[in-house]
Amino acid sequence: MYINGHWLTERSHFPVTNPASGEVIGEVPDCTAEDIEAAIAAASEALKSWKQTTAYERSGLLYRAWEIMLSRKQELAELMTREQGKPLKASLNEVQYGADFLLWFAEEAKRINGQTIPSARDNQRFITQKVPVGVVGAITPWNYPISMITRKLAPALAAGCTLVLKPAEHTPLCAKAMAEVFEEAGFPAGVINVITSRDPAPVGEAFCTDPRIRKLTFTGSTAVGKKLNAQAAAHMKRVSMELGGHAPAIVFPDADPVHAAKGLSLVKFLNTGQACISPNRIFVHRDHAEAFLAELTARVCRLKAGSGFEAGNSIGPLINEAALQKVEAQVQDALAKGATLYTGGQRLTDGELADGCFYAPTVLAGVTPEMKIYREETFGPVAPVVIYGDDDDVLAMANDTEYGLAAYVYSNDLSTAFKAFEGLEFGIIGINDINPTSAAAPFGGMKNSGLGREGAEEGIEEYLETKLGGFAL
Ligand code: ADP
Repeated sequence: MYINGHWLTERSHFPVTNPASGEVIGEVPDCTAEDIEAAIAAASEALKSWKQTTAYERSGLLYRAWEIMLSRKQELAELMTREQGKPLKASLNEVQYGADFLLWFAEEAKRINGQTIPSARDNQRFITQKVPVGVVGAITPWNYPISMITRKLAPALAAGCTLVLKPAEHTPLCAKAMAEVFEEAGFPAGVINVITSRDPAPVGEAFCTDPRIRKLTFTGSTAVGKKLNAQAAAHMKRVSMELGGHAPAIVFPDADPVHAAKGLSLVKFLNTGQACISPNRIFVHRDHAEAFLAELTARVCRLKAGSGFEAGNSIGPLINEAALQKVEAQVQDALAKGATLYTGGQRLTDGELADGCFYAPTVLAGVTPEMKIYREETFGPVAPVVIYGDDDDVLAMANDTEYGLAAYVYSNDLSTAFKAFEGLEFGIIGINDINPTSAAAPFGGMKNSGLGREGAEEGIEEYLETKLGGFAL
């Protein structure tokens, strides 16, 4: 743990395991109530001077952190593969994506502009200034254990906020490595504090109730996000919530089914399906069903599961046994209700895979609204295909979910694509594009997928208050 510029180790510890092998790869301190208090106190004290720094000073430090992070790209990626399980190439991509936020917000720090606003009275002037919201409590998930940290910390720091970070208990070593990057970049003591906890609930409660914390930023499940949002509401905190998703992907009759199958095989199995923007219902027009399923199945059969350190493996383990059981239950439920299994559909236990939580990359067709997988987020390597016909309103079917994070569309017709873009109730829509994410683009969801946006110009607004000055002359 890193509190007020000091590394604290003399605590009871909890182990960190490699989900591919079950091997213990390290241990981290389990914070006490006093540690939570000390971290919030340090962030609160540091705010006094940090908020007075110039945008140029904050930008310079973020820029330095970006340089250090990139110089450690390989080392950070290897740690991520050991701790989270994703293939090394995916870890390298994530470290790059994570670093992009440092650079983007190093620039945005210099563009925190106010306004002058004309008044109806000739002796009055209005100006606005943007000021940091104050101390931020940040809670991050294990599926993207580095980029979810920088996506929150970079805009908070750029805005002039100080913070306490609590990373997921499955991936605290990545958070520790990032704290080292920030420390080396020269951020003053207390500006960034990192606490690790085996039980996240007391930290979440402190973030929601302590009056010194003015903003809670959370990425994780909708269930936990709702609980935290309700707790925070009682204390009138600002919140940003990046929660679950149930992304539809629509393959329209005018699309090339082979091209669509290629794209969706890539995005569906990214991070072994453990992504909130992972497609969870793939709607394919009946005319294309055969060609699409043949190509998708052929591609999925070629995906290899195993250690992320072995080149050629693209399917890592699920994060734990509970995650694996959820996937199993959804697949069994779908099959019992009449879905067709094209490939996969079982745990992988051969050889060294037996030590980790591996599930075979799976294609299910004939998925219908009665099945759990049609509504529940899967967070695993299963591609559920729904076949639709001319009489179906596929946009209404796609919108029929409590979630509103990402959606994907394949169409070669501009008008179809545009109508889909306008008709889909989702925050992020990939049109013939399986990677509609960037530090420069707003990321976030509607409905039960959350509140607020990360990245882009919007990302820094989440950490700013607007102050109005009315001047009578
Ligand atoms: P997932 O189901 O994907 O693991 P969670 O929402 O459980 O998602 O976890 C995301 C983050 O939320 C992690 O940092 C985890 O420690 C934290 N978390 C889980 N439960 C709570 C809670 N009751 N209060 C605060 N944070 C929590």
